[in-house]
Amino acid sequence: METVLAVELDGSRNAIGLVGPDGHVVDTVHVEPVESVPQLWERLEESLEVASRRVVRHSVEVVACGVSIGSGAGELAGASGADLYRDAATLVGHAMASPVFVDDVGRGFTLAERWVGAARGLDNFAAIHLGQRVSGGVVLDGQLLDGALGHAGRVGHMIVKPEGRRCRCGGRGCLDAEASVGSIESRTGRVLSEPSYELMQQVGRMVGRAAASIANLLDVKVVVCGGPVAREYASTLFIAAQDEMHASCQMAFSRGARFTSAKSPEPAGVLGAAAIGWRGLGGDA
Ligand SMILES: [Zn+2]
Repeated sequence: METVLAVELDGSRNAIGLVGPDGHVVDTVHVEPVESVPQLWERLEESLEVASRRVVRHSVEVVACGVSIGSGAGELAGASGADLYRDAATLVGHAMASPVFVDDVGRGFTLAERWVGAARGLDNFAAIHLGQRVSGGVVLDGQLLDGALGHAGRVGHMIVKPEGRRCRCGGRGCLDAEASVGSIESRTGRVLSEPSYELMQQVGRMVGRAAASIANLLDVKVVVCGGPVAREYASTLFIAAQDEMHASCQMAFSRGARFTSAKSPEPAGVLGAAAIGWRGLGGDA
């Protein structure tokens, strides 16, 4: 069977998977959490050796590699000035001798939701991933939008609250500053799993505001939302976000746009990386 070797790199959560063209996960290899970029490459190299042995054991063929880079890995690299995309492609390509495709975790999440999740069969939708940072992607006319430098769909820096909190990007009132795990924990001083009801509603409204702008701008009827904040705040967030979308999507074409929960099965991060690989080969994902 043809598979993609999928590599999820997020610093504290890293994994490798072998994934078939239908999203079937043949096997996964855990990669230990790391605290620096050199450590990340060391652990990844060890785990790729394990993955190579699994390829032989399962009698599968690796036709491509997909790598998703999360914000945790980006923060490690930020301190060291490392070029994660380039170095990950070199290391994985050397280990597996297959074409390597590297992309952002939010864009991988978007592809996976279309492949095996809530946006299956949809040619027009957007996705928002509420993780340590807010990321996402946009699919229009059946294609994930890339943009000039490959960053299209990074919804985290849409402004949802003018004059709001200072964002790590230097701006103010971005969705990331209102709805990412990092921003919520730093401003409340509490872990994500201990929110107040008001906080969950407030975050939901901000996410819904971004989703409404996306629907009004891009003519998409579905915005899929996932990630740790979406999981923890669950229906309170989703109801608040849908209410906000309902209030703000008043154009004839955008009325009725839906805010819906991500449905990619676990390991969702590995499936996102696999979707990047299959997309690179020109596959359905
Ligand atoms: Zn920002």
